[in-house]
Amino acid sequence: MDKDKSYSPEEIISMMKAQFGNAVKAYWFYDADLCPCCQSRPIGEKAFDNKKSLSINAFMYRERGAMIAYLLCGQCAEEIIAQSPKEPTSKHKTIEENLVSAYLKYLNSLT
Ligand SMILES: [Zn+2]
Repeated sequence: MDKDKSYSPEEIISMMKAQFGNAVKAYWFYDADLCPCCQSRPIGEKAFDNKKSLSINAFMYRERGAMIAYLLCGQCAEEIIAQSPKEPTSKHKTIEENLVSAYLKYLNSLT
């Protein structure tokens, strides 16, 4: 039953809107199968196994005024939390690059 507690993209985006308000022009949920950090493991797999709640991360892509929500695989999430819960780690740079390229690909697919 715990798996039913996973959030839909719509729920995640509405939570982000509540948090960030109207300053953000666009919201996008990164819904690829693989973790945007390691790009090898499925998102949230380990977190589900441990019945932890998934932590939803958000990255502001300032150039486009877009807020990108994403989830990580359990291992990357744990590593980031262990390294530094508040400060950006080297992993964040990788994540942000992957999110931006996925977002731009998504925008291109709309045209
Ligand atoms: Zn990962």
